[in-house]
Amino acid sequence: MTRRVVTSALTGVLSVGALLAGGCSGDEYVAPPPATRSDAADPTVATATLAALRDALDDPGAAADLGADDESADLLAALARNATALRLEDVSLGYVTETGATDGDDGWDGLVSVSWRVDGFDRAAARTEVAVSFDDGGRTIAGVAAAERRLPLWLTGPLVVRRVPGALVMAAGEPEVADRYAERAARAVAATRPLLGRGDGLVVEVPEDGEQLHRVLGADRGAYDSIAAVTAPVDGTTAPRSPVHVFVNRAVLDGLDRVAAQVVMTHEAVHAVTGAVGARNAPLWLVEGFADHVALRDVDLPESRTAAQVIRQVKRDGLPDRLPADSDFSPGAGHLGTLYEGAWQVAETLADRGGDDALATLYREVLDGAGTADALRRGFGWSEDDLLAAWRSRLAALAGVPE
Ligand SMILES: [Zn+2]
Repeated sequence: MTRRVVTSALTGVLSVGALLAGGCSGDEYVAPPPATRSDAADPTVATATLAALRDALDDPGAAADLGADDESADLLAALARNATALRLEDVSLGYVTETGATDGDDGWDGLVSVSWRVDGFDRAAARTEVAVSFDDGGRTIAGVAAAERRLPLWLTGPLVVRRVPGALVMAAGEPEVADRYAERAARAVAATRPLLGRGDGLVVEVPEDGEQLHRVLGADRGAYDSIAAVTAPVDGTTAPRSPVHVFVNRAVLDGLDRVAAQVVMTHEAVHAVTGAVGARNAPLWLVEGFADHVALRDVDLPESRTAAQVIRQVKRDGLPDRLPADSDFSPGAGHLGTLYEGAWQVAETLADRGGDDALATLYREVLDGAGTADALRRGFGWSEDDLLAAWRSRLAALAGVPE
């Protein structure tokens, strides 16, 4: 594995963290008023059709019968297969409003609220709204699309679902893709266990390509182009129990070598299984540094490589005079690779001082709401200034510069 690849892997990891800081958990979609009225729109018939589809989610043939044509029949059958393979529970499909007329006399586009929960993994249901095209006066469905922006992966088409200990992977693509990511997910979960015990189950969503990833996340075009994977709320909401999954950008992750790809997956798995998304009180140097500590723990590479960017920065600009601030992690702040390596080195400084268990305890306590300074004093006998000093010593030694 080359140094360049290590760098690119960690850069991917980073941007992820930047999004964690609050970027990607986006705004809730608000239904627009209908643009035009359609004479065909019949909410009562549409509601009955949606109820029939919901009841048919364990019966692909019955779901297909609700399709307006062959293509939509195939799609609805695929959605039913997805729901069964994913063991979706608490599924509801509610008609909200019409959004406009379609070409035909007896069809129209409507907005449908969808909720669902992956049984055994999600603690609560995710909710979003999707655009559904009705036909035949509302008795059939001609298509499902993103309402405005977001379209959940399980509603996009046929998925391959894999289950491994502690994780579930859903992939739009060939079975080999799902197999590959299932293996990574299994390793990622296994890597978290020594430090974290049995955490929440990990769900990994693997869209077909970068474009589909953006649609699944309801993200602006290009927002995730340089990001290998992101841990984010499934429906974009920040409600405390809102399900959080790992979303993969195959356009980036598939280009990494085996070790780098695993580092990305394990880093994200740490965020996901510890409920780090939305833990607003935990400083990002701890959230990101700890994730990299776990992800890089079993990687057999010298720190001259894995910390190359921060070493270079210390040689050029001298030692940092404070711990990384959350605002440093904002997207577009620049030098994110350096920043993440720095945060990782803070975690290594703590692990050197107190061991892995003390570091994991600190992480847990702070995530659960303890003050960082208090937890640091309790677990390590350090003030934040002591930690800063020890981190600086460690960086100085790595970079070969005087303290
Ligand atoms: Zn991260």
